[in-house]
Amino acid sequence: MFESLQDKLSGAFKTLKGKGRITDVNIAATVKEIRRALIDADVNYKVAKEVTDRVKQEALDRKVKVAVEPGQLFTKIVQDELTHLMGGTAKNVNITGSPAVILIAGLQGSGKTTFSGKFASYLKKQGKQVMLTAADVYRPAAITQLQVLGEQIGVDVYAEPDNKNAVDIARNAVAEAKSKGKNIVIIDTAGRLAVDEIMMQEVEDIKKAINPTEILFVVDSMTGQDAVNTAKAFNDRLNFDGVVLTKLDGDARGGAALSVKAVVDKPIKFMSTGEKMEDLDIFHPDRMANRILG
Ligand code: GDP
Repeated sequence: MFESLQDKLSGAFKTLKGKGRITDVNIAATVKEIRRALIDADVNYKVAKEVTDRVKQEALDRKVKVAVEPGQLFTKIVQDELTHLMGGTAKNVNITGSPAVILIAGLQGSGKTTFSGKFASYLKKQGKQVMLTAADVYRPAAITQLQVLGEQIGVDVYAEPDNKNAVDIARNAVAEAKSKGKNIVIIDTAGRLAVDEIMMQEVEDIKKAINPTEILFVVDSMTGQDAVNTAKAFNDRLNFDGVVLTKLDGDARGGAALSVKAVVDKPIKFMSTGEKMEDLDIFHPDRMANRILG
């Protein structure tokens, strides 16, 4: 994960190796390298500029006051900035309500169905009664995929294979979850290959009909700036509550992870790092920043 960004950032810090003290000249050179590393990682340009401007200011402010080695000082400053950029602290999903209704949205192939299964399994392990709902009325295979996952993890799946109205299905699913005394109902919606009006309208209608406790937007982190632009389009329409970053296991660059919070101002709540049901973690900005800096 993030190998390419890691290499480039450590390259930037190398220019400080052996330098006894930090000077305006080596600050400028290092900041320039950091900015290049972030842009190569597909971090949004404006975000990369803002971050490196702050890093520069911090370094200038602290250069005379601290006695630590320049490389160490820079690593600490960048670590703090990246943590802040990714949201500071981990943020929970709100699962209060009877039932709590979690709406899952995102493009086709982003990993929505896989995440729905993982999240259901994660909640079940906490002792919650969970129900999954297949509200993708366009791909019959999507229903089967969720049913297979449900069976694997031992969670009920609500589906209406003959109903083509996703709003009705979602509404019925919430009523069913309530009557069965479930704590949480997760609604997996249909995606498209790109943002389109019909899809957006449908998810928006589902939102209006069921008034979800949380809307989680799922996005493939490997798509970098496209992921961030898609997040913006979905957020403008749905005002979602959190982001789920998927496929981090294949993401060498990290641009989406680093810029999505700054661009849409919504926290990343979960990260997915593989196809298996266990490959799900709460997103911790500080741990991620540590990891990026090696
Ligand atoms: P959906 O169309 O949004 O419901 O996407 P799916 O859940 O069907 O996922 C699309 C593909 O991505 C499937 O082959 C999943 O196994 C795979 N996938 C999902 N999440 C991850 C992940 O975190 N890492 C990897 N490597 N593959 C993933």
